[in-house]
Amino acid sequence: MYSNTTMMIEIKDLHKSYKMGKNSLHVLKGINFNVKEGELVAIMGSSGSGKSTLLNILGMLDEADEGSYTLDGVPIKNLNEKLAAQYRNKFLGFIFQSFNLINYKSALDNVALPLYYQGMKRAERMERSMAYLEKVGLAKWASHKPNELSGGQKQRVAIARALASDPKVLLADELTGALDSTTSYEIMDLIQQINDEGRTILVVTHEEDIAHMTKRIVNLKDGVIIDDKFVNQVRAIQNV
Ligand code: ADP
Ligand code: MG
Repeated sequence: MYSNTTMMIEIKDLHKSYKMGKNSLHVLKGINFNVKEGELVAIMGSSGSGKSTLLNILGMLDEADEGSYTLDGVPIKNLNEKLAAQYRNKFLGFIFQSFNLINYKSALDNVALPLYYQGMKRAERMERSMAYLEKVGLAKWASHKPNELSGGQKQRVAIARALASDPKVLLADELTGALDSTTSYEIMDLIQQINDEGRTILVVTHEEDIAHMTKRIVNLKDGVIIDDKFVNQVRAIQNV
C-alpha cells in the first residue's frame, strides 16, 4: 500500500543486555515499533523498565545487541563514533531531566554551542540561537547564566538548544522530572506547540499525566511493550 507519510523510526526485534562480570541483565526483550514523521509519542513505564536504554539506542548513544533500527530511511548499524556523531547532529535533538547546560555560559551561548561544533559561522549561529530563545519565550534572558534561571527556564534553554540544529526528531528523557507540576505542564505546552509545527517527538516518562499530553502511549514493562495506543491528547494549557 502506498503511503506518503515518512516512516521516521523503524525498530524490529531490538534486544539489549548489560554485562556485569559473569552476569548479564536482559533489559530490552524484543522491541518492535515504528514512528511516523510528525508523531508525538510517549514511552511510558515504571523505573527500571528500560525506557532510557531504549531512548539511548534511538539516540545512537548506545547500540542494541540484536535487531534493526532505521532512522529516516537510514539503517543505523555498526557506526563508528565519528559517523554516529554526524548522524546525531543531523537527525536528533536531545532533552534531559537535568538540563545538561554549561553553567559558565550564557543561555544564548548554550544554545549556540552545538552550532559552533557543526561549523556554523558566528553571526549566523548567534542569530539563529536568538531566534530559538525567542521561540521558547526567553529572549530577555539571553545573557543570563543557568544559575540565574528557574528550572522551567533552564529546560526552555535546553529545548532551544535541541531545536537549533533543526533535528528531524526530538528525544526527551524525563524532561519534566525535575520540575513542579505547573512548570511541567508549561513545558509540555511548549512540546505540544513544537509538535503542532510538525516536529517528530519522543518523550520518555514514568508519569501518566505527562504521557497523556502526547498523542500515543507506548507502555514498556520489564523490557517488553505491553501496550501501544493512540490517545486523545490532553492539552497542557486549555484555550480560553
Ligand atoms: P528506565 O529508564 O525505564 O528507568 P533504564 O533503561 O535506565 O530504565 O534501566 C533498565 C535496567 O537496566 C535497570 O535495571 C538498570 O539498573 C539497568 N541498567 C541501565 N543502564 C545500565 C548500565 N549502563 N549498566 C548496567 N545496568 C544498567
Ligand atoms: Mg530512565
